[in-house]
Amino acid sequence: MRGTVLYAPGDIRVEERAKPTIQAPADAIIRISAACVCGSDLWPYRGIEPIEGPTPMGHEYAGVVEETGSDVRNIKVGDFAVGSFMASDNTCPICQAGYQSRCVHVEYAGAGGAQAEYLRVPLADGTLVATPGRPDEDLIPSLLAASDVLGTGWFGAVAAEAGSGKTVAVVGDGAVGLLAVLAARQLGAERIIAMSRHEPRQKLASEFGATDIVTERGDAGVTKIKELTGGLGAHSVIEAVGTQESMMQAIRSTRPGGHVGYVGVAHGVELPGLELFYAEVHLLGGPAPVRRFLPELLGLIWNREIDPGRVFDLELPLDQAAEGYRAMDERRAIKSLLRP
Ligand SMILES: [Zn+2]
Repeated sequence: MRGTVLYAPGDIRVEERAKPTIQAPADAIIRISAACVCGSDLWPYRGIEPIEGPTPMGHEYAGVVEETGSDVRNIKVGDFAVGSFMASDNTCPICQAGYQSRCVHVEYAGAGGAQAEYLRVPLADGTLVATPGRPDEDLIPSLLAASDVLGTGWFGAVAAEAGSGKTVAVVGDGAVGLLAVLAARQLGAERIIAMSRHEPRQKLASEFGATDIVTERGDAGVTKIKELTGGLGAHSVIEAVGTQESMMQAIRSTRPGGHVGYVGVAHGVELPGLELFYAEVHLLGGPAPVRRFLPELLGLIWNREIDPGRVFDLELPLDQAAEGYRAMDERRAIKSLLRP
């Protein structure tokens, strides 16, 4: 099969790789209908996150179940299924509490590389959710988005307690930030402030439900959020970048008693204890427990109530994955969809 491999910073190749096989009774093999490049794939692509030798890439996937292990009960060959980037049993106490991304049996579902023709998904029953039938072709990008970016933006909004009557601010205008806007909207937020200085992303944020756009960043962005909220700060702030600047921007934009949902993978972030002490805000974040939200999100997509697939503004055949990475790295594309 064809699959994407990162050899070194900036060096993405699509090459012939061994087709995955069932290795454990709980496994399933998915024939990938669509995969994509994640903002978090750019960390190793840019050399900020080291890799130990050639690494199969991709952890977002949607496709048709081709084979299942002998223990798999809920997922059937021929199902169209979407799964989280973290495989979970969905039965342990941590899963039952809704934190499937930290399941006691957690495995990285992207280990085999989802930017490929096939992917082995561990713990298939606890990881995958099947759609009611084969989806229409135009639903596939949105279903794929549920695998990570939508689920992650959604978790950010839930962690920030976005909801009715709340003013929500979103730090980061990548696909996750944009879908956090959509999530906040769905959760009933009254006012949604998107922080973005890129016009096409501002436009999409508005279409997803943003009521205000703030172009300033860092402490100037914080000042602007305070101005828009009577000097108080937002009730709910979603951090969807993962840098020191974005994390502090999120914390400082939150009013005392408010909530920060942080879903940008932290790189070099260190929180100043005394400032945190006096900020008096709730912090919850981490790798999104996408599996918690998948049944609801797939339902909303299936019924065409939300269209998160609009974050894909570049679609390429899998063989052109390198261009998909370059376009996102250079911010020419919000998110690249790859078709095997
Ligand atoms: Zn579990």
